[in-house]
Amino acid sequence: MATCVVVGGSGFLGRALVQRLANNKEKWKRIVIFDIKKVEELENIQAVVFHQGDIRRQDDLVTAFKGASVVFHCATAAPSAENAKNKEIMHAVNVEGTWNVIEACKSCHVHSLLYVSSASVVFRGQDLDGVDESIDVPKCHVDFYTETKAVAERAVLDANSSQLHTCCLRPSGIFGEKDPLFVPTLVCNARKGKMKYYIGDGTNRMDWTFVDNVAYALELAADGLHQSSQRIGGQVYFITNDDPRPF
Ligand code: NAD
Repeated sequence: MATCVVVGGSGFLGRALVQRLANNKEKWKRIVIFDIKKVEELENIQAVVFHQGDIRRQDDLVTAFKGASVVFHCATAAPSAENAKNKEIMHAVNVEGTWNVIEACKSCHVHSLLYVSSASVVFRGQDLDGVDESIDVPKCHVDFYTETKAVAERAVLDANSSQLHTCCLRPSGIFGEKDPLFVPTLVCNARKGKMKYYIGDGTNRMDWTFVDNVAYALELAADGLHQSSQRIGGQVYFITNDDPRPF
């Protein structure tokens, strides 16, 4: 029986992960949600405790990480139009916040750190079909959000050691219940009549993964780090629903 912390546990993916971990009562004695905001729906789940804190403050993280063996890092400044303009917040939360998470893991002797990166870190503005994890991360990125994800991912991978085992997962788009961003934005744009045009011939493909499957992948990666830290530690994995076959 172990304790884990879900940083960003009140978010879209974080909530799905907390629910999934809470179902595994044999394994998790305590599941700590670390987030700047609280969500009521997770309040009454057995073994789940909420720790309000800011990833930009290392002391907050250290207090929450005490006694934990696994940390799942799912926090991000949302890539909303508003935040996209505010590079300072994006850098402070996504990059400096991740550095803080790594340092807090080290000082609290956490065994495993799982970071949710993004498939967009390898995007170079052209179609990517059938690539695997051997593809390089380019030096220039499509936007500042992606740049922060790539820097944070690198920091987490570089932190892998015999004391702290780290692994990064790269989902592309995530969909599912309570999605706060993509589907609401699509609906909002459609209502404004902005969905009448598309670029290209309409056959472009985008990879989407169901939110519970990303949560499941995080759980499997944590098991992998526990059982075979030498094989999984310092590795990065794309996450998708299925083999990317043409349809
Ligand atoms: P989300 O915005 O729903 O959740 C992020 C959580 O982080 C929120 O609960 C928020 O309150 C918290 N947070 C933000 N700033 C904080 C701070 N200063 N201190 C503490 N907590 C803070 O995002 P999500 O969609 O659940 O994304 C989870 C992870 O998956 C992120 O790392 C994101 O980059 C990655 N990702 C998401 C998608 C997607 O389509 N949603 C795709 C690829 C990768």
